[in-house]
Amino acid sequence: MAEITKEQANEELAGLRTKLNEYREAYYTKDAPEVEDNVYDQQYNRLLELEGQFPDLVTPDSPSQLVGDVTLPDFNKVTHDIPMLSMGDVFSEEELAEYNDRIEKNVGEEVDYNVELKIDGLAISLVYENGVLVQGSTRGNGTIGENVTENLKTISTIPHKLSRPLSFEVRGECFMSKKEFLRLNEEREKEGLQVFANPRNAAAGSLRQLDPKVTASRKLDTFMYTIVTFDDLNVATQSEALKTLKELGFHVNPSAEVTKGLSGVKEYIERYGKVRDDLDYGIDGVVLKVNDLATQQSLGNTVKVPRWEIAYKFPPEQAESVVREITWTI
Ligand code: NAD
Repeated sequence: MAEITKEQANEELAGLRTKLNEYREAYYTKDAPEVEDNVYDQQYNRLLELEGQFPDLVTPDSPSQLVGDVTLPDFNKVTHDIPMLSMGDVFSEEELAEYNDRIEKNVGEEVDYNVELKIDGLAISLVYENGVLVQGSTRGNGTIGENVTENLKTISTIPHKLSRPLSFEVRGECFMSKKEFLRLNEEREKEGLQVFANPRNAAAGSLRQLDPKVTASRKLDTFMYTIVTFDDLNVATQSEALKTLKELGFHVNPSAEVTKGLSGVKEYIERYGKVRDDLDYGIDGVVLKVNDLATQQSLGNTVKVPRWEIAYKFPPEQAESVVREITWTI
């Protein structure tokens, strides 16, 4: 890392914060990114590097302290009592091994990971009361999301009523298939409308519509992966949670696997890296989750990400390699 004085770092950080927060608003609030993800990631990683070197220069408005962005004023607000966080990420095998070392050091032994695909969509929350869907929302800024219940009800894979009278919250990903994305953009082009930059932005723009009929016409889909409250459920691991979600009628991605330590993870990453383009939905990486829920609890969260999960991000096409330090510790 090139030598830099605190004054220089302060100035560079101010510029990075302004730029990144502008990109974030375009991406999260307007669903129309100004730059490619790898451009954002490179500048974000530079910000993390400088903040790691000078921790007292971290400000509350730094993107390293924020999840998502402000919500659209058109929607009613929903408060997430348990915040919907972002996720830490690694970009190389070395960083993955470092992450695993920290987990093992903390837990005291090799752990089982539930390995899942990282679906390129937007996070949603569904609340059921006595088995009936009563509220659906977006992540928003992690604490305050947008109430999009009626829009979510138009998605065929979201059950309105469960076979059991459960009162709980589940979370997962709302996404648009590649096929539907192409169809929609073709239609928009014909109508002289601005096309969406990618399926993720198309999904976010389609879900955050004032008229649920517009959402219904966009054929969105979901993969649910988190049970937030387990009161009436006999679930001790993430793999059991996925099995339960499936039994309850949610759409669950079928590719999850449990593996001990890092053995198997590398093979999973390689396998899905190869078939990534053949899938009908976008993935931007693989997520490792400590499988045991009690261990997840004891590992806890930072202000922005859970410590018990990490995303291994696939390299974007023709992206320059990104070198950085991981600044959070367990
Ligand atoms: P993220 O999207 O990288 O990861 C967190 C999210 O992953 C969760 O909220 C959840 O929605 C999702 N996810 C998908 N599959 C999952 C699974 N199986 N289990 C759990 N979660 C799963 O984090 P983020 O903070 O929302 O966004 C950061 C990303 O957004 C970066 O990749 C960055 O490049 C991109 N971004 C781009 C721009 C731009 O201008 N291009 C701006 C801001 C952010």
